[in-house]
Amino acid sequence: MDAWTGHQVPSLPGSGEPLALYDSARGAVHPSSPSGPATMYVCGITPYDATHLGHAATMITFDLVQRIWRDNGHEVRYVQNVTDIDDPLLERAQRDGEDWVVLAMRETALFREDMEALRIIPPAHYVGAVESIPAIVGKVCALFDDGAAYRLEDGTGDVYFDLAAAPRFGYESNLTREQMLVLSAERGGDPDRPGKRDPLDPLLWRGAREGEPAWAGGPLGPGRPGWHIECAAIALDLLGNSMDVQGGGNDLIFPHHECSAAHAERLTGESPFARHYVHAGMIGLNGEKMSKSKGNLVFVSRLRADRVDPMAVRLGLLADHYRSDRTWTDDVLKTAQQRLARWREAAAATAGPSGAELLTGVRSRLADDLDTPGALALLDAWADDTLAGTGADPAAPALFANTADALLGTKL
Ligand code: ZN
Repeated sequence: MDAWTGHQVPSLPGSGEPLALYDSARGAVHPSSPSGPATMYVCGITPYDATHLGHAATMITFDLVQRIWRDNGHEVRYVQNVTDIDDPLLERAQRDGEDWVVLAMRETALFREDMEALRIIPPAHYVGAVESIPAIVGKVCALFDDGAAYRLEDGTGDVYFDLAAAPRFGYESNLTREQMLVLSAERGGDPDRPGKRDPLDPLLWRGAREGEPAWAGGPLGPGRPGWHIECAAIALDLLGNSMDVQGGGNDLIFPHHECSAAHAERLTGESPFARHYVHAGMIGLNGEKMSKSKGNLVFVSRLRADRVDPMAVRLGLLADHYRSDRTWTDDVLKTAQQRLARWREAAAATAGPSGAELLTGVRSRLADDLDTPGALALLDAWADDTLAGTGADPAAPALFANTADALLGTKL
């Protein structure tokens, strides 16, 4: 499917430092060191509701990864999916008496608009689950032929991955089996389902059910794909057997990324599937977890409708480190709006302190696992000095604005 429209990214003089990122599997910050094109897969939305600030924070995080790689001179191959068929989408459509296809199309269109407003560089490939079904079926059949998949004997036609075929299972999340069982039950798994070889075995293919959409699955029979194999199949087809970064929110560490890796690694015989598994923190509202069940989601489109500048939303989400679970409050937004106004005023000055020094500093902060609080502090200090009349570099205000735009995606 089509992604959204991108914006021109200004080029900066010189080039940045290599990007180091925290890898959840190794539990430490390591250089991302892509060889050749830098490759990244980010798990996208299930389009049953509007884009909320948690989605925006995740997308902004990986937008920075792409911006920094580009600033380092890498060609970037970025793939993002849309899970445009899955249980939450069908449940919402059923609840609201709506056609699930219409719901998915509407929310995906809104997501594109939000991404464009937030100046997220679009992925090279924006791929839906539905359009990927033939590729997914091929991968499930390959796992079947390899003895790594089995069909449940209860007449449903459901096919599961056999975790006995994944000896490294658990390396990405580093969780105990007890923790995995709890998270599996909370996050769409079915550990209590009878007939599975291992309670943690993930679903690969769900056999057709009365009243649910289904697609031809060849030897699998009609049905629809599981979520983890969807991402594994799309990434393998578009990025090859392994990639530099697989990204998402930290609620995807388990089971989603663990299971995607297990599928892909069994299919290719290569490990790791991703050299970095990178996860963004969750965004709460006024100190509480933001969730659909609490009804306290803050939607990007709602803020846009309230005439909040998307660049202020961006700065609000960049004010704390991407890996921290953090909270959105009126004060966070107000501080971001004030910062944006101050930066715009400083960018319009006739001169300021050295722009080259500022750029070096910002590059260095961002290369260190996306230290956005550190980068913002440097830009704040430059703006304060400029507005105080310090500095005589006439080229600095333009370089300040280009730095904020190219590296932080914040148009002044
Ligand atoms: Zn995914």
